[in-house]
Amino acid sequence: MHDSMDVNRTVSYFCRTDIGLLRKQNEDNYYVPPAAEETPHLPQLFAVADGMGGHRGGKMASQLAVDTLASSYLTAPSDFSAEARIVKAVQDANLKVFETSATIPEYFGMGTTLTSVVVNGSEAIVGHVGDSRLYHFRKGRLTQVTLDHSLVAQAVREGILTAEQARIHPQRNIITKALGTRSDIEVDTAHVALEPGDLLLLSSDGLHGLVEDDELKAVIETNLEDPDRLVQDLVQAALDHGGSDNVTVVLVRYDGPARGE
Ligand code: CA
Repeated sequence: MHDSMDVNRTVSYFCRTDIGLLRKQNEDNYYVPPAAEETPHLPQLFAVADGMGGHRGGKMASQLAVDTLASSYLTAPSDFSAEARIVKAVQDANLKVFETSATIPEYFGMGTTLTSVVVNGSEAIVGHVGDSRLYHFRKGRLTQVTLDHSLVAQAVREGILTAEQARIHPQRNIITKALGTRSDIEVDTAHVALEPGDLLLLSSDGLHGLVEDDELKAVIETNLEDPDRLVQDLVQAALDHGGSDNVTVVLVRYDGPARGE
């Protein structure tokens, strides 16, 4: 567990990861910025990764993904836009996981989700692969920004399953796109215009696979004044619903000006 706040106080963040109640190891990883003064020239980066595969593969895949994401993001050419930077960073992370999987037998077949966001002034820019999620909360409204790359989410979008059927479907854990399975990858991007008080919530499916959006929203609204408690209560909600998976939450609060102010 770790939490921090940057020096200019326009972005604060809180995070927590938990092994859950049934798993033997935690294969989730996350990234939050180091001390703000180390990267003052770049928008701050946040990410959640949920690894899968093999004895040690899942943990390695998600760790490699967040490490490579961060180093690529921080060292990309300075003329790159924030979106180009995050897309390249996710692609580099994919290649790193893929190459490691292909060359080290112990890690064969590993993969990971990777959902990342940078807060660039009053705009959040998202780079995403897999079924981890980014939510945006503003004034009582919780919106899922990312689309799940999963079999059941696709079936919901096509009207074959309801959201409720998807939540309990035996194939709910099958993802249709992950980092590490091939050398190139298409990265979903999204842009969110931010207003003061907005929250960005990154989560692994150990949270949103167990806790419905209405309950997530209720937990958020109950703890708006205490974001540290908020992430604790989100993780606790997943545990209260059985804690069948690793659960990871990164919460980013934006308190800068709205665009144009
Ligand atoms: Ca998971």
